[in-house]
Amino acid sequence: MVTIVKRRLLDILACPICKHFPLELLVFEEREEIDEGLLTCKNCGRWYPIIESIPHMLPDELRDEKEDLEFLKKWEKKIPEPVLRNGKPFNLK
Ligand SMILES: [Zn+2]
Repeated sequence: MVTIVKRRLLDILACPICKHFPLELLVFEEREEIDEGLLTCKNCGRWYPIIESIPHMLPDELRDEKEDLEFLKKWEKKIPEPVLRNGKPFNLK
């Protein structure tokens, strides 16, 4: 599913793993849409990157670890500590 992220559309996104809703949103870069940001699931501890306005809501086995770690490093200063240290499925610990 490809969804361009407008804030109102985020209201319909649930965690693809545990179906928790709503997800917490952090915006790193925003023009007309949210260009880069982070969605986190409080229930299962997973996080999902928003890259080029597209939320990457993939199950663990389809995620690209290298790309995910690059994303965490890119926004390290803005991402909350618990996500950097304990976020699932990947973190910087
Ligand atoms: Zn979840």
